[in-house]
Amino acid sequence: MRTFLYALLVLLIAVGAFMTGKGYLNPGDVAKSTISTLHSSEAIAEQQGPKKWSSTKPYPKHDVYYPGTEELGADEMRVIACGTGMPQPRLKQAAACYLVELGNGEKFIFDMGEGSYERIMALGIPLDQLNKVFLGHLHLDHAGDFPAFYFTGPVNNRLTPVRLWGPSGVKPEWGTEAWADFMVKMWAWEAATRGAAVDPRGLQLEVNEFDWKAVNKVIYDENGVKVRTLPAIHGEQSVSFVLEWNGLRFAFSSDTLPTRWWAEHAKGVDLAIHECFIPPEMMMARYGFTPGEAVFVGTQGHTAAQAFGKIMEQTKPVKAVCYHFQNDFDTALAVHSAIRETYSGPLDLATDFMTWNVTKDGVRTRMAVPNHDAYPAPIQMVKQPPDSAAEFPFSAFDRESIDVPAARVTNQVIKKFNEENGTNVFPAYTGMVDKPEN
Ligand SMILES: [Zn+2]
Ligand SMILES: [Zn+2]
Repeated sequence: MRTFLYALLVLLIAVGAFMTGKGYLNPGDVAKSTISTLHSSEAIAEQQGPKKWSSTKPYPKHDVYYPGTEELGADEMRVIACGTGMPQPRLKQAAACYLVELGNGEKFIFDMGEGSYERIMALGIPLDQLNKVFLGHLHLDHAGDFPAFYFTGPVNNRLTPVRLWGPSGVKPEWGTEAWADFMVKMWAWEAATRGAAVDPRGLQLEVNEFDWKAVNKVIYDENGVKVRTLPAIHGEQSVSFVLEWNGLRFAFSSDTLPTRWWAEHAKGVDLAIHECFIPPEMMMARYGFTPGEAVFVGTQGHTAAQAFGKIMEQTKPVKAVCYHFQNDFDTALAVHSAIRETYSGPLDLATDFMTWNVTKDGVRTRMAVPNHDAYPAPIQMVKQPPDSAAEFPFSAFDRESIDVPAARVTNQVIKKFNEENGTNVFPAYTGMVDKPEN
């Protein structure tokens, strides 16, 4: 056997040398070409054998994703979980949110539950590139961080209007248009005070409400990207989405019981992200639910793990992803074994910052390593802030309220700033104390 392999090796070297037309390959090239050609157990063992890594150069192989360090391939889709948990807040998992990045430069956010905004910021992506948000339904654990994202976008260097898509309401006042309208009204003081200080372009909002009962209807069709909506079963007026681009398909459930629409229209997608709950007994133990509450919420308002498996068995995605549970050592085991009663295909149990690179060749899953000390990404356009001082006249009551010694110190800070920076900024409020009438 060894003699035969040796003869084959010599033959391959000779063929390799002949094919290159260079006469002889250097020994390193010979080893590489031989290994890649042979695929024998010896060759594989050699590939996987000990290697001497440089002690000063970067370690060349990483099985994690460092955001901002990898170019997205022209044909590639990258999906990052920015929220996978529950309405019960926890540091480890924000509530529902998924970022989809495409090789054509387009980026989409699906759902934006509580806590997800800080996950998005930890990726270091300019907010100008994150102006498209699709909400599957208007529960706080799927939409709660949208107001923060929207209103504080301009102080995080977003100078681009936000575009929002969401379902119509069973009652008009429950639909996405009314929701966005109420949001702006609820945050009226925020809008006025923040609006007086920031570039107004980032505080524009385009709302696209669509019929929640529409089946497989295209609600977004730009730049080669189509997003379709599917009716969901979750208190009505909830929807699921399927994004299609470049022959790749991504399906996202928001909250729902498994539906026939999903089984039909999400069939064969590359990445299928669907909600899935922990067993009712665990909900009773962890959240203090009564048996009735736990069974209703965990199986009638949401998808039981066995039902998740059943819908994925029909969907047959390249990769199935379950989310919407607190993913711990014990819940993961319970969810996994319940899913395996009904589904044996490829599966990930999502947690925050799980990342999927999707190509025609398959789906690669890794964990992203977020930046815990993130600052906003730099501005993409020249800022045009309004004259804040003019927008905010100093009232007589403010004048009464101000502490004069502290105001004088503040004025010195600004004077020093002007000297050092060659600017001429006037202390609009604290400057009043040094005016003659004081
Ligand atoms: Zn919900
Ligand atoms: Zn939910």
